[in-house]
Order: sequence, then structure tokens, then C-alpha cells
Amino acid sequence: MSIAEKVIYVDNNATSKVDKEVLETMLPYLTDNYGNPSSMHYFGGKVGKALDTAREQVADALGAQPTEIIFTSCGSESNNMAIRSILETIPERRQVITTKVEHPCVINVVKWLEREHGYKAHYLSVNSKGQLDLSELSNAITPKTAFVSIMWANNETGVVFPIEKIAQIIKRKNPNTIIHVDGVQAVGKISIDMSNNLVDMLSISGHKFHAPKGVGALYVKRGTPIVPFLIGGHQERGRRAGTENVASIAGLGKAAELAKKNLKDEATRVKALRDKLEQSILEKVPNAILNGDPHNRVPNTTNISFEYIEGELILLHLSDAGICASSGSACTSGSLEPSHVLRAMGIPFTAIHGSTRFSLSRFNTEEEVDYIIEKVPTIIDKLTQISPYRKEIEKKRIHCANLTDIPQTV
Ligand code: PLP
Repeated sequence: MSIAEKVIYVDNNATSKVDKEVLETMLPYLTDNYGNPSSMHYFGGKVGKALDTAREQVADALGAQPTEIIFTSCGSESNNMAIRSILETIPERRQVITTKVEHPCVINVVKWLEREHGYKAHYLSVNSKGQLDLSELSNAITPKTAFVSIMWANNETGVVFPIEKIAQIIKRKNPNTIIHVDGVQAVGKISIDMSNNLVDMLSISGHKFHAPKGVGALYVKRGTPIVPFLIGGHQERGRRAGTENVASIAGLGKAAELAKKNLKDEATRVKALRDKLEQSILEKVPNAILNGDPHNRVPNTTNISFEYIEGELILLHLSDAGICASSGSACTSGSLEPSHVLRAMGIPFTAIHGSTRFSLSRFNTEEEVDYIIEKVPTIIDKLTQISPYRKEIEKKRIHCANLTDIPQTV
């Protein structure tokens, strides 16, 4: 099989491949060990042990206690559960804070709170590199602030927010404000130690770090009140009803253990591959611009705009060459709506439309990266020829050729 015939998957922020070890951990709970973990008999108890192990593994990867972990069905559920629970426990506080670059499963909940329940929301701005203005955050917090919900790493650009510092600012200004962090894109990419920060709640999602789709968790710091989002039985110590998805939870546990073990590889080998890919594209393609903060990013992600070219066309041509990348986030692609993250960063529309995200994982190889580096300039060149903005791109090409210094990006 030639390399062009196989899938070169660089869309790991959308979802990731299930690790073989994860699958092996799951299989017994899809075959022989099918008991209900709540059953009193020994068979149920045996299955229940898988939940205990997974809880310990997830807690260990996050620097948390096992009792602080609640299993959920996905990152969206964890985010919804956190926000809805906070508001139910402190109904008197009617002001909430989030950012303009959150995932839709946070932004749309906050919009719904404003629209349907009369909450006052403040959406923090970001600068052209996707960074927050921490004085805006500090000024936005009042005695009425119920929560601040903020992401650790951005799914589109990979930009990492300084969560420890942010949490200190929030608690200094109002110690009663609950801090919820969407950690979905941070797990497995950067080190997380919940014992060492002031964050109250953290959402994670298995399919972003080589566990299957349909399983996630919510970390809730000891002492933080929580009301169930799903009401029913006593599962998860009464905090989330529904018979547990044992096989996937066992997989989540194993994936968390592997994510911790592979953090160094992510920070060195995966980062080196990402940097090689990014620098080569920026050097070879005149109308390529890096989006985001080159210094404060998760190691696997690069978001590059090819100015004056339509992102969907780029994706189709990459796909024809066997390369699976993404235009903005998977949730916003499919519609031609320009990315809300890049818009918040003030990126010109001519660049937003041609933005392409490459997100790597520990399963990518140098051979694959070299193949992408070979294909991208040819594809962009081809699309330039049919672009109505060909003249603008040509001007950039001449300007680029006259530069003696290639800008350092990472
Ligand atoms: N938060 C972020 C930052 C994400 O990137 C995603 C998914 O893309 C989610 C939340 C939602 O996670 P899930 O797909 O598990 O619901």
C-alpha cells in the first residue's frame, strides 16, 4: 500500500484513535464480564472493581483523589453538568463569566442562561494571538459572580491559558466564585495537577486522548457542592444516575494512565513533528500565516491560514491526498460559518476562510509529516491558480522572496 492510499490522520483534536492497550482493557467488559456493577452478587462486584481501577487511574493522571472523579458520557455532558450544578447550588448569584473562544458546549449554555433565565454574562476577549487580558478578567469579577468557565487549551488554535494564574486572580477577587475549567483539549498534551491549583471543576473527554467516544469525566474538588444533571439511581455516589458504561470507563482509565506515561513523548517527539510541519509550510507557502500564540500552545496543534483560499477546498484536496485535517473545529466545519475563535482574535476574513488545523498525536510518524510537507505547497499552488485573488497572493510571494530572514515561529 503506498502512503497516499492510507489515511494520514492529523485531526486528533476532533477525535483520536483508540489505543490498542485501551481496547484490550475494555474487551472483557464487553464479553465475559457483563454484570451490572451495582448488583450485589460477586459477578457485579468483579465488574465494579473496573470502575474503582479506572477512577484511580483518572485521578492519578489529574493529580486528584478518586472520590473527586465523576464519570460522564462526554466532555459536553461534563461541561453542562458543571455549569448547571453551580447555578443550582448558588441561585442568588446571577452573573457568569466565560470567554469568546470556548467550545459551543460552554458558549451555547451561557447564551441559553442569558436568553432563557436572565443571567448577565461577560465574554472575555482575546488578542490577535488568542491570549486573554487578565486585567479584563479581574475587572469582570463582582460579588455576584457565580462562576468563571474557561478552557485550558483551545481546540482550534491549541493556545493554552495560564489556568493556575487565572484561578488565583479569581479567588483573590471573589473566593466564592466557582472556577470550572474545560480541560478536554489539555489532557494528555500538557501536565495537569489539580492538587496544585484553585480550580473547582475540570471536564475531560476520553475520545480526545485515545479512549473511545462516549465517555468522559468531571473532576469536582472535595467540598465543592454538586447536584446531579441526570437524576435517577445512586450511581456515582448519587452524583450521576445511569448504569455505568463499564467498558468505556475502563478504557478511559487505561487511556488516562497512558496519557500520563506519554506526556514526555508529546512534549518532545510530537512537538518536534508539529514544529517541522509548521515551519516547512510557513517557509514554502507565501500566503501561509500561523494563527495563535506560538509559545503558549499544546504541543500537537498548528492552525495555519492560507490567505485568499477557501478552507473547504483545501480540506477536499488534502483528503484526496489521504490527509485528514480540519478547518476550524469539527463542530463548526460543515457549515460555512467562519470560526468564532479566529473572529474573536481579529483574524481577517480572507485568512479565516482558509484556516486549516493540523492536530497530531503519538501515532503520527515523521514519514507522514514529510508527506504532508510535500503535498501542501502543491495543493495551495494549484488552488492559487484558480483563486480570484491570485494577484494578492502573487504580491505576497514576491514580498516573501525578498525577505532575508524567515520569521521564527516556535
Ligand atoms: N470542549 C472542547 C474544548 C472540545 O474540543 C470538545 C470537543 O471537540 C468538547 C468540549 C466536547 O467534547 P465531547 O465531544 O466529548 O462532547
